[in-house]
Amino acid sequence: MKDTLKHRGMRNKLADILVEKGIVDQKVLEAIRTIPRHLFMDSSFEGHAYQDKAFPIAADQTISQPYTVAFQTELLQLEPDQKILEIGTGSGYQTAVLLRLKTKVYTIERQLELFKKTTIFFKKMGYRPKKFIFGDGYKGLPEEAPFDGIVVTAGAPRVPKALMAQLKIGGRLVIPVGTNEQVMTLFIRKSEKEFEKKEFGSFRFVPLLEDKN
Ligand code: SAH
Repeated sequence: MKDTLKHRGMRNKLADILVEKGIVDQKVLEAIRTIPRHLFMDSSFEGHAYQDKAFPIAADQTISQPYTVAFQTELLQLEPDQKILEIGTGSGYQTAVLLRLKTKVYTIERQLELFKKTTIFFKKMGYRPKKFIFGDGYKGLPEEAPFDGIVVTAGAPRVPKALMAQLKIGGRLVIPVGTNEQVMTLFIRKSEKEFEKKEFGSFRFVPLLEDKN
């Protein structure tokens, strides 16, 4: 598959739809206009890649809806060179958005099939996260903490304590919390012990799975 002018045109339209839905961050919109989402998906979905919808990827997972990716990224309020941890790499689309915003990205995926597939894809595309780790996102990445931002791209039945602990003071954790449906939740770390919590609308994600061992 290639990236063509036609794809670019569809991306511009998609960005316009996201503006209508309330996305205002120009850097996020620029990323949506630039990143070839169709290449992150199975070729059979190519014709649908620029609809504002989630689609199946490997291992029964999904590539998040563009609006959701834009909304979560906007909540992070990213600045270049910030250290960002992503839980749930999946197709790598959200990772590519974070990289486009010139942040240093650490990303974790727990499905081996997806981890292998996306590793090859990142190489092919020249996307370079600082680290791409096969493991359990509930634990975060203590050896690289603290982070300016943490984004969880799967529905979390509870907020992992480890992720709260790995935020810088002033850092932001964006996490969809809930089982069947999730409330998009933003935590801003105010001090060692205090977090400000803000809740946004409801979303639907595949579950953040916990290893029971
Ligand atoms: N950002 C991705 C979203 C993929 S769906 C994209 O847009 O393509 C969520 C991903 O989280 C899935 O790939 C799933 O395997 C992964 N996941 C679920 N539980 C996890 C955990 N405990 N640690 C790391 N990744 C997890």
